[in-house]
Amino acid sequence: ITDKLAALPPDSNYFSLEFFPPKTQSGFANLHARLSRMAQALRPLFVNVTWGAGGSTSAKSLALAELTQRSLQLTTCLHLTCTNMSRKLVDEALESAKALGVRNILALRGDPPRSDEYRDDSNPDAEADDSNKDFTWAVDLVRYIKKEHGDYFCVGVAGYPEGHSDQSHPEHQSVGHDLPYLVEKAAAGADFIMTQLFYDVEAYKEYERRLREHESGLFKTIPIIPGLMPVQSYQILRRTTKLSHAALPPDVLKRLEAIKGDDEAVKRVGVDIISEVIETMKATPNPGPRGFHFYTLNLEKVVTQVLERSSLIPPATPMVTAPNGDVWSDHAI
Ligand code: FAD
Repeated sequence: ITDKLAALPPDSNYFSLEFFPPKTQSGFANLHARLSRMAQALRPLFVNVTWGAGGSTSAKSLALAELTQRSLQLTTCLHLTCTNMSRKLVDEALESAKALGVRNILALRGDPPRSDEYRDDSNPDAEADDSNKDFTWAVDLVRYIKKEHGDYFCVGVAGYPEGHSDQSHPEHQSVGHDLPYLVEKAAAGADFIMTQLFYDVEAYKEYERRLREHESGLFKTIPIIPGLMPVQSYQILRRTTKLSHAALPPDVLKRLEAIKGDDEAVKRVGVDIISEVIETMKATPNPGPRGFHFYTLNLEKVVTQVLERSSLIPPATPMVTAPNGDVWSDHAI
């Protein structure tokens, strides 16, 4: 990812798309078809594949990463959590990623059992192994990957523009509380920061400013990629913002509440709202290309509308002619 970013003009924009592994064969087949369409039509700089806490989706996450990285040739960032993961599971995941050609890992702590956000109950044993004392925080995983694999993997870490909220310590939710630990993750060699979703663009801008100006100097140029979740429905919005502890600014809430019974209208206004966030961020100075990460929920339509509205879809890769007359995409060569 950082190599691809270095090759972009500094004043350009890019985006990434996040997908989770479906639970069923038919869900996987549907996503395969959708991903093929999206890869061709939208041309993300990279895609993310989520990881079930404790390794509960490991086989399915790797199967999805195989599809995106190998079959669709999309630069893939595999999420990897470390809480309730044995060192053996972490090693296996990293070796499998390597074997698939995946060069990017988002190193996360993960949530302790019981949060249902990234769970897949098809592997109930996955969380039984909590004997692991190697990894407590995400920084432990960043250090481990760097120690074991050097610079083979480009390693991203999570950031929280409105502070991280732990179920056990909700009173700690503040950017100030997290900052020393984000400093640790950057000092351990994190290559980029990807953020929790937000709708409060002013809070996000303030977060970015605070990082860029941090006395450690560690965040001056590191890519910070804001996380955006397109609005799929009023109910999903309320649920995801509650789970992620993201604020809904009063004006955003007012616009959506007025039409909350009309799903199509909610989607339409949601596209307006996310596009406005993107316009604001595009106009905010950044030391390098300006990126956007989309939590797609494996859905296609609304994110496509946002990308079109915000002119984020890059032109199709130019075709070049090889010496033998074959025509290839520049990318394939
Ligand atoms: P950490 O960086 O370890 O921080 C966790 C909390 O502990 C923070 O409150 C921090 O301030 C505090 N802390 C850190 N170090 C210390 C310390 N030494 N002492 C005391 N407190 C400390 N979850 C999944 O299960 N699967 C996914 O695929 C997934 N993808 C995600 C993608 C993104 C972009 C984001 C933002 C989150 C994702 N999550 C995912 C959720 C994530 O796993 C949870 O939010 C988790 O609770 C925290 O993970 P972290 O990597 O931020 O942890």
